[in-house]
Amino acid sequence: MKTVLVIGGGITGLSTMYNLSKWKKAHQSDVRLILAEASSELGGKIRTVKNSGFVMEAGADSIVTRKANTMTFIEELGLENEVVYNATGKSFIYTEGELKPIPADSVFGIPATIESLAKSTLVSAQGKVEALKDFYTKNERFTKNDSIGEFLEHFLGKELVEKQIAPVLSGVYSGRLNDLTIASTLPYVLDYKEKYGSIMKGFEANKETFQSGGEKKFLSFRNGLVSLINAFEKRLENVEVLKNTNARKLEKCSNRYYVSFNNNRFVEADYVVLCMPHTAANELINNSKLKQDFDQLKSSSMISVYLGFDVPDNMLPTEGTGFISANSNDLSCNACTWTSRKWEHTSSSRNLLVRLFYKSSHRVFSSLDKMNKEELLQVARQDIHKSLGITAKPIASEVTNWFDSMPNYQITHPKIVKTLERNMETMYPGMMIAGCSYYGVGIPDCIESGERTAEKIITFL
Ligand code: FAD
Repeated sequence: MKTVLVIGGGITGLSTMYNLSKWKKAHQSDVRLILAEASSELGGKIRTVKNSGFVMEAGADSIVTRKANTMTFIEELGLENEVVYNATGKSFIYTEGELKPIPADSVFGIPATIESLAKSTLVSAQGKVEALKDFYTKNERFTKNDSIGEFLEHFLGKELVEKQIAPVLSGVYSGRLNDLTIASTLPYVLDYKEKYGSIMKGFEANKETFQSGGEKKFLSFRNGLVSLINAFEKRLENVEVLKNTNARKLEKCSNRYYVSFNNNRFVEADYVVLCMPHTAANELINNSKLKQDFDQLKSSSMISVYLGFDVPDNMLPTEGTGFISANSNDLSCNACTWTSRKWEHTSSSRNLLVRLFYKSSHRVFSSLDKMNKEELLQVARQDIHKSLGITAKPIASEVTNWFDSMPNYQITHPKIVKTLERNMETMYPGMMIAGCSYYGVGIPDCIESGERTAEKIITFL
């Protein structure tokens, strides 16, 4: 009888195990399936907290609808009737002490029409003139492996990038634009430049692509994303789920693996899947050659703070759903979502719930990182006071420090992962890595990573 041990009960580990357990049932296999999770709950970076009538997501808060629609997990897990979608509205950039709207007809802050550029209140007249060079400058040197920051700046000018595009885009891709490639962010902008001679014209010609599903770009579940975790867990038939079980040591002996855990547990397995962050996988494997690969993978930190108030959320600017803060101003946060506006299910009383994001890319982050929860709440309250003028005392809060937990895919990321896979295959046959550190950070990417890993293991069984 073969044993498969999956370590890490986040969405990747759950998806891996769900697919293995489906196969086991369909083939009446005697394979032993074990899922080990260090903490008391499954879910990892998906964790829903309920308090004072508010639904707060300590980690991920939604799933990109476009991606979810190409997959079957929602129907398979029986969650169709639980799905809720985001409300749409204006986003703002907080700059020079005020909230200024991100212009209509822009994608990631990139104007999709010349009118959108003309109407921007974020960029000076000179910055707008500079951006016009996009219409008459040819691309002679950029490839998809070049930096997206340099590319955009070259054609659209420094000011537009700095004041309107970078605050949006670096928030979405968690990193400085100069460190991210065109390929890993917006590969189509280079195609637009080649095909239409202009990035802006390219966006204009492809407007429908970006507007499609505009109303329902993101989805969640009426009781929060925890529903996804619970639904997966419920379907793990014939799987031994071990919670509070932290893998401490892994040894290989004649192509079998011996894993010992914190609680004096010990598992002997033929196949092991490491569905944990790369830092934890590195520590567990403890191999100097693989360490060189693991150490090249980068991640950053983020602190999430929710504040729930006993005030109605219609006091916020009409139609708004949140703001991004340009890095050079007087707020400590990078962004603030007006959660009760964006997600109706998060506030049964329609009271105001906001979520502030503090990222390690911010110049003040190093001081925040040392603060305790009370101090962080004070910082968040100051930010809300400055940006929205709200001085009320919150009736609910949730602070989560995601220390070194946000993977940052650098230009060399795909190459490093390939090398790591190759080295693992040679040195540790039957042991695999999966999840957000390697194969995409979005929830659908992680679900796919789990599916692919399960398929691979099934070929061995
Ligand atoms: P994890 O969720 O990190 O799971 C790994 C698990 O391994 C954890 O449960 C951990 O306890 C366990 N573990 C670690 N070491 C051990 C050990 N030694 N032994 C046993 N168990 C161990 N994605 C989206 O699609 N939409 C969003 O809105 C979104 N927002 C996000 C917001 C935040 C603040 C964060 C942090 C992430 C967000 N993401 C979002 C990304 C997404 O949530 C993650 O990429 C995804 O959930 C990662 O799943 P995973 O299973 O690969 O890893």
